[in-house]
Amino acid sequence: MGLLTKLNHIYSTLQALKAELTESKTTFNNLQSRISTPTPPVSNPTHSHWQNDPFQIPPQPLPPSTDIIIIGSGISGASIAYTLLRKSQCNILMLEARDVCSGATGRNGGHIKCSAYMEYCSFKDRFGESARHLLRFQKRHMGLLLGLMGELEIEAEAREVETLDIFTDEKAWEDAKRMVHVFRTDMPEEAGDIVVFDGVDGCQEYRVNPEHCYGIIKYKAAALSPYKFITSLYGILQQNDNFAISPGTMVTQINANGDGYMVSTSRGQIKAVQVVHATDGFAATLIPGLEGKIFPVRGHVTVQSGCGFDGSRSWCIHHKRGFDYISQRPGGELVVGGGVIQSPGRGVDEFGVWRDDGLCYSIRAYLGGLVETIFETQTKVEQAWSGCMGFTPDLLPFVGRLEESLTGRKGGGEWISAGFQGEGMVLAWLSGVAVGLMIAGDEEYQDEAGIPGGRVKEWLPRELICSKERVDRLSVSDLGVLL
Ligand SMILES: Cc1cc2nc3c(=O)[nH]c(=O)nc-3n(C[C@H](O)[C@H](O)[C@H](O)COP(=O)(O)OP(=O)(O)OC[C@H]3O[C@@H](n4cnc5c(N)ncnc54)[C@H](O)[C@@H]3O)c2cc1C
Repeated sequence: MGLLTKLNHIYSTLQALKAELTESKTTFNNLQSRISTPTPPVSNPTHSHWQNDPFQIPPQPLPPSTDIIIIGSGISGASIAYTLLRKSQCNILMLEARDVCSGATGRNGGHIKCSAYMEYCSFKDRFGESARHLLRFQKRHMGLLLGLMGELEIEAEAREVETLDIFTDEKAWEDAKRMVHVFRTDMPEEAGDIVVFDGVDGCQEYRVNPEHCYGIIKYKAAALSPYKFITSLYGILQQNDNFAISPGTMVTQINANGDGYMVSTSRGQIKAVQVVHATDGFAATLIPGLEGKIFPVRGHVTVQSGCGFDGSRSWCIHHKRGFDYISQRPGGELVVGGGVIQSPGRGVDEFGVWRDDGLCYSIRAYLGGLVETIFETQTKVEQAWSGCMGFTPDLLPFVGRLEESLTGRKGGGEWISAGFQGEGMVLAWLSGVAVGLMIAGDEEYQDEAGIPGGRVKEWLPRELICSKERVDRLSVSDLGVLL
């Protein structure tokens, strides 16, 4: 890379991350170095509120071989396993480095929310006509997940909520109104649930402090306990003799071996015909070609009591820079997350953090004071934790078969479903289903609980496919421009 291009990259990254820092070159170099140094999950993560009621599986001896190994036990691994068990007769072994569902899925905010007007406008700017397809893919998750939980009788606090986007900055509010207008014009049916409250119009009804409110946008979303959903699903899948999960089993290496792979783990080696990477932010630890192209960003969540709200609602608070999110559990507690921009490095220092065993003090302090500032009510932080979200520079997941040039290994039996940013609840399930169906065979499928009918290429946006060509195009400076 020439000096000019490099300087350009440095400039655009920092400009666009809007870090407003003067130590740009050092900051950029540190960021590059962090995101390009894949590190496996730490063994002593912070404990999320959802994990207070833990799902435990006693360790079993590892088999010498299996048909398919899925690495990672979050929502993505769960949807791949669920789909394969429905559509094939394969033996599946899921390997998890830590406790079951202890990654992002077991520590997220539980918000199933597609901010359709914002997503659509961002997709339209970047992908033109494909924007509609990308948006529909995201929007489809809410109904599909609620339907699946209903059908499987999974109790995971899953519920529809009335969601409110509150804007604390005048320009952000003007931009939001423009986006609503574009979305209503281009996709009127999908925009049918949106209600706009200009200025302080909605503040009294929704108990928002008018001092900080430029406007509110209301529409539908959902919320749940993600950990309860996924671990309950594993409880069901375990009844199938073709499926086993092995927690406490870190995959350390993968080698091509004849017509399959030898997978080395912290508990021994297993031979497999196919290997699926459902490791989100950690994918590059086992896929050398993705180094610097998928990496974690650390997020923070708290549970707060005492808000005194009634009814089931959720909120996003959009500021001049960054946003926070809140949902109200059926029992009344608030799940409050975000604040990434409040870190000492204005958010940049949370990029490329490969550990979820600690908290950033300023983000933790900020989240503790957020509810009181935005709403006229006081809360107490009961629990706070962090987690790693897998980011890609184009903010879209990697889905599909991995080319040998990315894995550095012979054989076409490796797959990926990873890189869901902070939006796994509206991206990861169907990405995992797509990979499951691709492995089972590219056919015309019937609609069933959690699995759409038709052929995968009809409903999976092609922009999500993980090709070497796409990966080569990606640079961390693109991420700066998008944020
Ligand atoms: C703090 C936080 C808040 C969030 N809030 C929301 C939200 O409200 N709404 C939303 O839509 N999304 C949210 N997200 C994002 C969402 O949680 C993720 O996008 C989604 O859970 C990713 O699921 P996954 O299955 O791909 O990855 P994960 O759930 O992270 O699962 C990957 C698993 O792979 C395991 N693993 C990694 N490497 C190895 C290895 N070498 N060997 C064995 N196992 C390995 C990890 O331990 C982990 O359990 C949030 C994320 C975080 C961190």
